Amino acid sequence: DRFDVLYFETLNLKAMQRLWGRKVSDLGFRSFLQILEWVAQKKGKVVAYIDRWFPSSKTCSGCGYVLDELDLSVRRWRCPSCGSENDRDENAAINIKQVG
Ligand SMILES: [Zn+2]
Repeated sequence: DRFDVLYFETLNLKAMQRLWGRKVSDLGFRSFLQILEWVAQKKGKVVAYIDRWFPSSKTCSGCGYVLDELDLSVRRWRCPSCGSENDRDENAAINIKQVG
């Protein structure tokens, strides 16, 4: 992607772990993550894990202000705190990059 970073949402990883079944130990899952990181490194990428509930699209990447609500149809929004205009996806990507 545009940042050369692979982001994995923590809850998705847990869902993946669930898919692997009860027989898969925590160690097995960790080895899986290590392989993932190794593959990413070989491709010159970094693996980052972010909290799924981080409000990436509602947080102003300029000043950190968090909107109470952001309708899914809203593509751009103006920050009431600093006045900067945020593109939904671009803003979310910047925030995720900062957290990761
Ligand atoms: Zn702002």
